[in-house]
Amino acid sequence: MDDARENELARALDSPDPGVVLEAAHAIRHEWDRAVLRALAEVGGRLQKRLPEMEFDGALRANRTHVETALKRIRLAMTDRCLCAAYLTEDLYNPEREAEAGRVRLLEFIVVPEEYTTRSRCECMACGDIFTVEEREYHYSWWIWQRVATRKKG
Ligand SMILES: [Zn+2]
Repeated sequence: MDDARENELARALDSPDPGVVLEAAHAIRHEWDRAVLRALAEVGGRLQKRLPEMEFDGALRANRTHVETALKRIRLAMTDRCLCAAYLTEDLYNPEREAEAGRVRLLEFIVVPEEYTTRSRCECMACGDIFTVEEREYHYSWWIWQRVATRKKG
């Protein structure tokens, strides 16, 4: 476990500054170290309680949803499910970025020129689950992940 990272994220989640909390939330979206995430459970619970009183801005999407997503990921880490389950409930995971980060392997990647979007098929590097991913585009891009096959249990 990376103690420094975990402490840094915990301090940020406890911050009264919404900007600092938001930055930590973005980092947590891409955090795959379950021990780091689990260490944030307590501070996450505190943040959950004061979240309704916090003010976040964000033009196209409420930044609050990013913080809620981070808290959801911390709760997911407390279970024994693979963290790729977060792909199913969050729509800002870009499969190309996930592949670059070594989280998934792109099995197929198709550009759909008439829609300016992409379709892909990915395999989770941690558990082997297979996902299809459809990109959607409207002011910003988002991605719909669906699990199509499970390799291992859990
Ligand atoms: Zn997985």
